[in-house]
Amino acid sequence: MYLGTITVVATLNFEQARACVLDQVQAGRPEPKTDRVSLSEAGGRVLAEPVAADRDYPPLARSVRDGFAVRAADVPGELVVIGEVRAGESFAGEVQPGEAVEIMTGAPVPCGADAVVMVEHVTVAGGRVQVPRQIARDENISLRASQSRAKEVILEPGRRLGFAEVGLLAMVGRSRVAVFTRPRVAILATGDEIVEIQETPLDYQVRNSNVESLGVQVRRAGGCPTILPVARDLYDSTRELIEHGLGFDMLLLSGGVSAGKYDIVERVLADLGAEFYFDRVLIMPGQPLVFGKARGKFFFGLPGNPASTMVTFELFARAAVELLGGQRESSLPLLTSRLAQDFRQKTGLTRFLPAVLSADGAVVTPLSWQGSGDIPSIARANAFLVTEPDRETWQAGEPIRVLLK
Ligand code: AMP
Ligand code: MG
Repeated sequence: MYLGTITVVATLNFEQARACVLDQVQAGRPEPKTDRVSLSEAGGRVLAEPVAADRDYPPLARSVRDGFAVRAADVPGELVVIGEVRAGESFAGEVQPGEAVEIMTGAPVPCGADAVVMVEHVTVAGGRVQVPRQIARDENISLRASQSRAKEVILEPGRRLGFAEVGLLAMVGRSRVAVFTRPRVAILATGDEIVEIQETPLDYQVRNSNVESLGVQVRRAGGCPTILPVARDLYDSTRELIEHGLGFDMLLLSGGVSAGKYDIVERVLADLGAEFYFDRVLIMPGQPLVFGKARGKFFFGLPGNPASTMVTFELFARAAVELLGGQRESSLPLLTSRLAQDFRQKTGLTRFLPAVLSADGAVVTPLSWQGSGDIPSIARANAFLVTEPDRETWQAGEPIRVLLK
C-alpha cells in the first residue's frame, strides 16, 4: 500500500553529493560510545581520548650515529678517547677540551660533548681519534624533547589507529586505550530475483553477492555489519525490514531505488517520515543513489547492480561509516596517473571505471567491462579511473585521476 508522497529530491554531481554526506553526517552524528581495549586489539580502531607524552622524547640528547662524541669547537683535530658509551648506558664522566667518547647509535651524549662525528669520517689509532673535518654543534644528535615534550598531546581523539599510531601509544607506555565503539550497520538487499549464495539460481535469478561485498566494505571502514533477510519487492515486507534496519546505527540498502514499478524503497522510506538529501547523483556507475535520514538514522539506498553498489559505497557510504565510528575526518584521495592508451567518454557524468594501475603507480590501463553488473571486471581491477564529467577525450600518456580500490 502506497501512503506517502516523495517530494522532489535533489540530483547532485559527485562533489556536491560527497560534500552533502560529509556535512550531514558530521552535523547529525551522535557521539559514539567508547570501549577500552588492549593495545594489541587497538589497530584499526578509532582513538576516543587524547593521549599525552609521559616524558620528553627523547628524554635526553641521543646520538643518531655510531661515532665519537666531541666538542664541536675542538675539531678538526686529534682527540684523546676517554671511554665509550653504548645504547642502554649512560657515560659517567664529562668530555673536556681535547677529548672524545666513542658512542653508539641511541646512546646518550655525554656531558660536555655537543656533536657526534660519524665513525666513517675519522681515523682511530692508539687511543686517539683523528677528525679531519669541521662539524656543526648538535650534528648527529637528537636533542632532548625535540620530538615531543612531557604532557604534550601527541594523538588526538578521532584518529584511526594504524601501525605508526599503535607504535606511538606503545612508546608512551599505553597498554590500554579508549576507542569508539564500532557503528552497527544493517545491510538489507532487496529484490524478487535474489537467492542465497549456497542455492543454485534459475537463469533469471542472481545470488545475493551485494551483502557479502558490502560486509567487507563496512568492516574495512570500521563498522560492524549485520546482514538482514532479503526484502522482496513487496511493500509490507520491505517496510518491516527497513524498520528493523533503522534500529541499527546506519542502514545500507541494495537495490530497489531505480525508477521501476517495483522499486519501492524510496516510497517505504518516505512513509516512515524520511528526509532525503539526494536521490540521484551524476556518476557512473550508480546514478540512482539515495541518501537520507529516518528515525534519527542515516540510510543509503545503493543501486542493486553490483559494480554500482561497490562503487557508491566507496564514494559515499564509507565516509558515513567512518564518521559514525568517531573518525574526525574521512578522506577519499584521488591520485593522478597517466593513461596507457587513448580514452574517450560521453560527457555529463563523473565515471569510476575499473582499471589496472601499474605496480609503481605511473600508468593506468582501463579494463573492458560490460557495465554495472560486471563483477569479474571490478575484481580484476586494482583501481578506478576517475573522469571529469565535461571532458570527452584523453590521449595516451595524459594525466588522469585514479581512485585506489
Ligand atoms: P535494482 O537496483 O533493484 O534495479 O537491481 C539491479 C540489478 O542488480 C538486478 O537486476 C540484479 O541483477 C542486481 N542485483 C540486485 N540486488 C542484488 C544483490 N543483492 N546481489 C547481487 N546482485 C543484485
Ligand atoms: Mg530490484
